[in-house]
Amino acid sequence: MPTASKPRDFFLATEDEIREGRTTDVYFLRTLDVLRKSGKDQEPVVAEITTGSLPNGWPWGVLCGLEEVVRLLKGRNVSLWSLPEGSVFPPKTPRGIPVPALVLEGPYGEWALYETPLLGMICQASGIATKAARIRKLANGKQILSFGVRRMHPGIAPLIERSVFVGGLDAITTPLGADLLGVPAMGTMPHALTIVMGGPREAFAAVHKHLEKKVPRIALVDTYCDEKAEAIMATEAIPDLAGVRLDTPSSRRGNFASIVREVRWELDLRGHRDAKIYVSGAIDEGSIPALLDAGADGFGIGTSLSNAPTIDFALDIVELRGKPVAKRGKFSGRKELLRCPRDGTYEIGTRTCPACGASMKPAHVQYLEGGKVVKDLPSLQEIRTRLVSELERVGLGA
Ligand SMILES: [Zn+2]
Repeated sequence: MPTASKPRDFFLATEDEIREGRTTDVYFLRTLDVLRKSGKDQEPVVAEITTGSLPNGWPWGVLCGLEEVVRLLKGRNVSLWSLPEGSVFPPKTPRGIPVPALVLEGPYGEWALYETPLLGMICQASGIATKAARIRKLANGKQILSFGVRRMHPGIAPLIERSVFVGGLDAITTPLGADLLGVPAMGTMPHALTIVMGGPREAFAAVHKHLEKKVPRIALVDTYCDEKAEAIMATEAIPDLAGVRLDTPSSRRGNFASIVREVRWELDLRGHRDAKIYVSGAIDEGSIPALLDAGADGFGIGTSLSNAPTIDFALDIVELRGKPVAKRGKFSGRKELLRCPRDGTYEIGTRTCPACGASMKPAHVQYLEGGKVVKDLPSLQEIRTRLVSELERVGLGA
């Protein structure tokens, strides 16, 4: 185990440092040392990753981040079963048993080093993907752009972009995210463009003239004047106006939905019925329905997505040398998680769906057998498609 860390300009761990356990809580390293010296580091165990509850009482979460976990554990003597990435899961089954999202099996010493990083990989990604999926459902088919990268460290921008895309959002915003995910980066324009150009008319004229032809023209219409006034200026300056964005500051907002309604009216009146209205700025679940009703066509959502509450997955040993064991508060023994193919209900130990009576199927997929990958990881599109179809049969909860 290397002990010296390389100096760095940015406070980010490298992939090697993560694999070497340099980001692992030190008590695991000390535990490993004690187990090795006791001749116990090869004790065979089964461990489950569960969460007994979800943030804000959400009824379901979206599993995201599995791909990184498989790559982290690959090559170690560990077998891994998991719900497929993009699965919607409740914290507990109808009988009240925590749903094991992932199951690990192997000598404890083979993967104790990775408990900290593997939880971090799925907790944060699943939190963001869950939030994205909730917003997708609320937005009811309207476009959603993720604007939250700037609220988090740039080192995790790819993680944020992947997680929001898995969660069903339509657009990510960075070139690196676009490259890694194979989807286009989207954006509108910042206030800085209007300010540096000397005003909205000048900015819109410059956008019309100079913005790359392939990029749809979406004018930001709240920099200096009223949204309606700047939207009208945009229609005059940009004949092929694709849309306008209202990022109205909270001090001027009054009734944001009414402003959207008014701008829609003025755009329609001037023959720009196809121009979309995007809204952004501190948008969260509660503000979406009224804005939708007023005619908003798209949402730019930032902090509430990238700073989504993390899902508190925990890893617990449930079997030692083939015998059920568990700490207080946890259910011991390896569980066969089953799922109803018709309505998605999860349960343990029953072949018949408690909700509809259909025959249940195994919910877990095995990805690793003794460190060897035994199942190809699905493509990002497949993961997202799974999520989108699963979302259709769940509600958002109270
Ligand atoms: Zn069922």
